[in-house]
Amino acid sequence: MTELSPHLRQATPVVAVRGEGVHLYGDDGRRYLDFTAGIGVTSTGHCHPKVVAAAQEQVGTLIHGQYTTVMHQPLRRLVSRLGEVLPAGLDSLFLTNSGSEAVEAALRLARQATGRPNVLVCHGGFHGRTVAAASMTTSGTRFRSGFSPLMGGVVVTPFPTAFRYGWDEETATRFALRELDYVLQTISAPDDTAAVIVEPVLGEGGYVPATRDFVEGLRERADRYGFLLIMDEVQTGVGRTGRFWGHEHFGVAPDILVTAKGLASGFPLSGIAAPDELMRKAWPGSQGGTYGANAVACAAAVATLDVIRDEKLVENADAMGLRLRAGLEAVAAATPAIGDVRGLGLMLATEFVTPDGAPDPETAARVQRAAVDEGLLLLLCGAWNQVVRMIPALVVDEGAVDAGLRAWTAAVRAGTQA
Ligand code: PMP
Repeated sequence: MTELSPHLRQATPVVAVRGEGVHLYGDDGRRYLDFTAGIGVTSTGHCHPKVVAAAQEQVGTLIHGQYTTVMHQPLRRLVSRLGEVLPAGLDSLFLTNSGSEAVEAALRLARQATGRPNVLVCHGGFHGRTVAAASMTTSGTRFRSGFSPLMGGVVVTPFPTAFRYGWDEETATRFALRELDYVLQTISAPDDTAAVIVEPVLGEGGYVPATRDFVEGLRERADRYGFLLIMDEVQTGVGRTGRFWGHEHFGVAPDILVTAKGLASGFPLSGIAAPDELMRKAWPGSQGGTYGANAVACAAAVATLDVIRDEKLVENADAMGLRLRAGLEAVAAATPAIGDVRGLGLMLATEFVTPDGAPDPETAARVQRAAVDEGLLLLLCGAWNQVVRMIPALVVDEGAVDAGLRAWTAAVRAGTQA
């Protein structure tokens, strides 16, 4: 009998048969509130009617208009629509399928454009599972172990993870920037450094927002030394944090922006955006791929951008994020096993700790399982899987937030009593 790989284990026992908005329906007849959104992918909710209609129409018109062979209309439209939401100056796009591929495209561009070998990565960052992206990933050894040698030229520098250091954000930021200068003085000389890559909010690493001073400090070093600032907005982009792009919280623009996940509401699509002048420095033949910018995915992405604009989903993410966060903080205040609540917009997390303050993955796992019993689907993150995260679709409303919080309250009670 053929089976799925034992390593492809699901975080919940749910067999999903249908999705609608913020809900998934299991083959057990139950309706689940989905605060995982396919790991932050179904931005407009499951099967938004406008996304479904656009995809259905495209399926009957052209499925695969291979984009290094022919141009197609959905791709043309998407490039034009993305121009309306991208930061000023990032006017050239390369599109591909997954976050990892887009991260690697950003790295390739940075190395080719600067002629420099090294990339600085922030400790705790997650950038993907393909070898170059895994080499840049430092959010857990599970993503890196056992298939060395990894790619060379990756240099790790601290991220202002205040809670883990046990400092306030200002102290953690000062430390991270001081260490960055030390790294540039001792490990990766500026002339060897092509880029620094950062997530506006550490994702898989535990949902830790960067700080304004940290991101400004990265921008300042990049400008001073002529290396590039790459923002990995794979998880934080497309409205997730209550701004269209996560980096808008910090008022600092990148040289290369990486996007994926929420862009096409569930169809595989990713890309990088950079100034045309920079993109021209990529070497001929370095950008392409069989499936990139699939016509159905592009049509779904255009519909996704329309829905986000028309239904004011960025504003909704901001408002619903505040409501959800207030509820999470109230639960945390009454729960000694919760050490921290943090995040931005609808990218929120609760970190579990033992009585002596160490990471507590067992309690996090118990709470996550208890939440499924309560009809609420959640995922873990963090180096120890000690953090429970909430990333509902951007269409989530007050009723669903409150229902989620009721289920969360019960799950925390059940999971922390054991
Ligand atoms: N970068 C970030 C910030 C991510 O969160 C992820 C996926 N969790 C990736 C890159 C990799 O994306 P993918 O799984 O589509 O390759």
